[in-house]
Amino acid sequence: MKRNLPKKDRPDTSPNTAAMSDALTSWYLENRRPLPWRASQDPYRIWISEIMLQQTTVQAVIPYYERFLKAFPTVKDLAQAPLEKVLEMWSGLGYYSRARNLHKAAQLFAEKGFPKTAAELTEFPGLGPYTSRAVSSIAFEEKVGVLDGNVIRILSRVHNLAVEHWKPAGRDVLQTHADALAQVDKPSDLNQAMMELGATVCTTHSPTCLLCPWKTSCKSLEANTHQTLPLKKPRAEGEIWVWQPEIMMQKNRVALVQNPDMPFLKGQWVFPGKISRVKKKPETFDLKHGITHHDIYIQIKKASAKERQKLDVQTAKGVQWCEVGSLSSVNPSILLKKVLSHLPS
Ligand code: SF4
Repeated sequence: MKRNLPKKDRPDTSPNTAAMSDALTSWYLENRRPLPWRASQDPYRIWISEIMLQQTTVQAVIPYYERFLKAFPTVKDLAQAPLEKVLEMWSGLGYYSRARNLHKAAQLFAEKGFPKTAAELTEFPGLGPYTSRAVSSIAFEEKVGVLDGNVIRILSRVHNLAVEHWKPAGRDVLQTHADALAQVDKPSDLNQAMMELGATVCTTHSPTCLLCPWKTSCKSLEANTHQTLPLKKPRAEGEIWVWQPEIMMQKNRVALVQNPDMPFLKGQWVFPGKISRVKKKPETFDLKHGITHHDIYIQIKKASAKERQKLDVQTAKGVQWCEVGSLSSVNPSILLKKVLSHLPS
């Protein structure tokens, strides 16, 4: 829900805002990179690109995007595909919950049609406020601003705002500025211009202000605070975990259970074994793997025949025997492959 902003934080909706939108859009039309998802206003293609671009760079996404669209050219193709195939095509991009949500949402879109407004889009799996606004403004010209890391950085700088953008009140301030700029004939261009400016000119470490269409109106450039904005979010405290996967093999098959306790790879098929959170790094371990703020120290155990027998008894209780060569179609996380490659002989 939107809060009322204190007067000092209310956006400038003067003609200056309209002039800034015009200057930015003109700059974008002359300088934009020809990215594959910019070739049309097809909502399906825009949606796929926006989901892939979360946490991944443009250059890294392009080959995955092209491969995915070749496999699933329409929302109907994606909706009808088996989840395993979708995960396989997503393999390499990480954060597999995004692919699962994409698949679920595609099934709903295929049934109900593609919604045109951000308010409707946010009702679907995996579509948060940013993605919903990006899709509705780029595909359907809805006049809503988008707020991702790039836009937070640009708006904090151009308005010289030291706001805590990770808190709702701080986001409201920036969202209101983003919305004010998007009140133009083509919010699709304006929002993509913001993304482009953040990616190519107003970059995190070395903004090239001389090339910026807003160099004469940028308040942080004038105040020389642009290198210190936006404020840095305090880091989430890292967690240390020890995982002791038990690798049970039967010919060329390996036993998997549906992740019961791990705070990462939730609900996914993983090797059975104990997991515990600890205060410090263990003295011995076979390998280390990081997922978001979790440092996972892995102590691999190759199960004995007796332990294997125990698992055989549990087969009816949700153990899946998976061909080693097909592991990535069941769980595409690189973590499982890493564990197998470190298996003691
Ligand atoms: S003038 Fe510099 S700091 Fe200001 S918005 Fe442009 S690139 Fe960013």
